[in-house]
Amino acid sequence: MPEHEIYALKYAGPLESSGAFLMWLKDWEQVEERNYYIWCVKGGQETVVVDTGVSPDLAMEKNLTGYVNPAEVLSRIEVDVREVRHVILTHIHWDHASGASLFPKATFCIQEREYHFWLKDRIAERPPFEHVSDKRTSAYLASLEKTDRLALLQGDHEILAGIECLLAPGHTVGLQVVAVSTATGIAILGSDCAHVFRNYREDWPSALIVDLVEWMRTYEKLRLKAPSIDLLFPGHDPIMSENYPEVAEGVTRLV
Ligand SMILES: [Zn+2]
Repeated sequence: MPEHEIYALKYAGPLESSGAFLMWLKDWEQVEERNYYIWCVKGGQETVVVDTGVSPDLAMEKNLTGYVNPAEVLSRIEVDVREVRHVILTHIHWDHASGASLFPKATFCIQEREYHFWLKDRIAERPPFEHVSDKRTSAYLASLEKTDRLALLQGDHEILAGIECLLAPGHTVGLQVVAVSTATGIAILGSDCAHVFRNYREDWPSALIVDLVEWMRTYEKLRLKAPSIDLLFPGHDPIMSENYPEVAEGVTRLV
């Protein structure tokens, strides 16, 4: 089995909010920081990028603090977005998917359930869902339907040797995490299945819940899959930038 390396690339932040955003219904009075990340898996035959970050246009509209074009951050570890062939989209929230058009040759792996919800279910047009998505991203992903640049997965699926997408709903209807075989065992890029490490450690989700019961089942599933809770990585925790070796500006090696 290939032993991959995993990199966290910060493309925006820090942003501040009530702690209740990161720990559902707790810590209202605390102010907590979060960063915005994409991830890169190297060491196998192919480089795989997990999530795309935010497009420059949308970052400008949202006045996103500390924003750097994800293409620029990837270039710091010798990854050229114009050449990337494999992108896994964990879910279709704007901060994870709106940079998709930065990857002109990539095939996007998305759970079919996630894709259908955001692109075909009219509930996704209602205000709470519109708030966390982006119409241009949905239109871009719709334009890829029935082409070889879109791979819709139905549940758990190994897309390359040692890189497996796992259906992990709760935060969205069809969020997927990425289980990666590494030298220290299976590490899980969990994206917003947890905003911060504390979510996994305290068995307590973050905000933006679509299904709390499913979310708790997902935590069980991921804990069974990874050999250690230290190998479950969250979506927005600044600790990913602070406690791991920095290999380039804004880029740390997690495993
Ligand atoms: Zn999200």
